[in-house]
Amino acid sequence: MAKISINIATGSLQQKEMIVGIDLGTTNSLVAVIHPENKNPSVLKEFDGTALVPSVINFGNGGFVSVGDMAKNKLIEEPQNTIFSVKRLMGKSYKDVKDYAGFYTYKVIDDNTDSLVKVQVGEKFYSPIELSSYILKELKKRAEHILKTPVNKAVITVPAYFNDAQRQATRDAGKLAGLDVLRIVNEPTAASLAYGIGLKKDEIKTIAVYDLGGGTFDVSILRIAAGIFEVLSTNGDTYLGGDDFDRAIVNYWAEKLGITQERLISDSKLLQELRLLAEKAKIHLSTNDLFTGKADSHQLELSKFDFEKLILPYIQQTINCCNNALKDAGLSVKDIDEVIMVGGSTRVQSVKKSVADYFGIQVHDSLNPDEVVALGAAVQADILAGNNKDLLLLDITPLSLGIETMGGLMDMLIPRNSKIPSKASRQYTTQKDGQSGIRISVYQGERDLVRDNRKLAEFNLTGIPGMPAGLPKIEVSFLVNADGILLVKAKELRSGVEQSIEVKPQYGLTDAEVENMLLESVTNAKQDIQARALVEAQTEATQLIDTTQKFIDKNSEFMNEQEKSDTENAILELRSMMEKGSKDQIHSAIEKLNEISRPYAERVMDQAIVTALKGKSI
Ligand code: ADP
Ligand code: MG
Repeated sequence: MAKISINIATGSLQQKEMIVGIDLGTTNSLVAVIHPENKNPSVLKEFDGTALVPSVINFGNGGFVSVGDMAKNKLIEEPQNTIFSVKRLMGKSYKDVKDYAGFYTYKVIDDNTDSLVKVQVGEKFYSPIELSSYILKELKKRAEHILKTPVNKAVITVPAYFNDAQRQATRDAGKLAGLDVLRIVNEPTAASLAYGIGLKKDEIKTIAVYDLGGGTFDVSILRIAAGIFEVLSTNGDTYLGGDDFDRAIVNYWAEKLGITQERLISDSKLLQELRLLAEKAKIHLSTNDLFTGKADSHQLELSKFDFEKLILPYIQQTINCCNNALKDAGLSVKDIDEVIMVGGSTRVQSVKKSVADYFGIQVHDSLNPDEVVALGAAVQADILAGNNKDLLLLDITPLSLGIETMGGLMDMLIPRNSKIPSKASRQYTTQKDGQSGIRISVYQGERDLVRDNRKLAEFNLTGIPGMPAGLPKIEVSFLVNADGILLVKAKELRSGVEQSIEVKPQYGLTDAEVENMLLESVTNAKQDIQARALVEAQTEATQLIDTTQKFIDKNSEFMNEQEKSDTENAILELRSMMEKGSKDQIHSAIEKLNEISRPYAERVMDQAIVTALKGKSI
């Protein structure tokens, strides 16, 4: 078992390396550090004073990629190759996001499966992980430029409601950007740390963090005791934020000027001009009573009074969410000790006032609300760097623990730097019909392919009763107890058969070996993630071919010869790509097969519903 010591926590041979805190936001991202001398957290600013980097990526001509303000300016002109709001896609499948498909102006691949979302730009396919890594790379580059030192280690924040897959995706994005991600921290926890709440060991508090950003609203209720932050509940709306305020202002002006909605939609230049002016007005009104400006040669104005009336329904919605969050936590407003304001949109006076009125206490708003999360991430980074001795007493897992999945990939269950005791579990299933056993191989390390990690143990779960592939529910759970011993258990939930094994993960590993494994994972991140993407594409292709063939076998009578031969050809093409193609070529072939099968698949499904409704079969 390892206590956090400076070298393991930083994973580095150099002692005094900067660890940065990163807020990877939906709208804006930024970096903060603890100043080595005065020990205060501060955000990193460009020479012109800007700290926020818009989370927008533009894929320009000739392979030129830009991130930030430059990319944001291309949003209207080049909607297909300018990517915004990637954070919403992290760890999601198309099925998860399809209800909001109209929101994205770029192409989110609709493969109608449970596999992870991809974005298509020209001939290339990008995962949200790759897209986020472009933003992180830009942040790393800026940080290095400003700090004049290499930046290789970071703490990155995520919303409290992010699940395992979304957190893992964020870690991978960091790795791909050449960053060793020491910890993923919840945004509300970071905000709290920025205000110094939760830093004292004997502090016990219940707090609410109200976060209204550009496109999302989150409220989290946290319980802080002895330096441990427990999320009691979260609530919010993933499509509610400052953008809605801007839209409300645009509509208000459009009505005043007699501009119809049709004209607004068709005249993107006018719309963009009005939108930019609306955001300007909104920002102006957080410190003034009246805004006047000009767009499309029209004189426009907006009073604070009218603005606040326009956004009242949105604010009411956020208060309803606060109410629900409290209810879910089993608390009432009087149980809340502190309220922290986060997100650029909480600069609006009436937002602050409504929240303070609702909770009946003064809210924390002395720090810049769009900077607090990054500042808190820097505080956490400093703790991990070993500069805050009081908080170093926790036991942690120095390397990640996971099992081998299809194609030799490492599926991480317990990320490194997790506090112990720690537990995690995940469900798997069988690949073949009637499969009666499954091999569980346990690995330790940070690499994407298990062959590069350290094998700890292996056992078979046998006696699974015969079922079609995909039906058994095999839950694999990891428990690292307070002594650092790992207990791995596999259980088929439908039948109850189970098997377990105990291992000592640290046995025989020196600190230097741990460090070496960490360094290798960063050095090889790019190849690792490419290898993983290729294996994932191959697996997706195998599954698609399998389901397509099963579908055809079952419904062959409803298909014409042309459809059958087109499908066969597309399958052949996909098979050959699987063998010798790149990940992009495999995805293209998957797309093609999907496009061919979609029309008849829909027709057959409709037919099946009609037949069922007629009572012929069910
Ligand atoms: P996110 O967390 O979604 O990445 P931010 O916390 O940076 O985003 O918030 C961005 C939003 O804050 C934008 O809608 C922006 O217009 C809004 N905003 C920034 N400053 C102000 C202000 N002074 N008054 C009102 N809204 C503001
Ligand atoms: Mg934010």
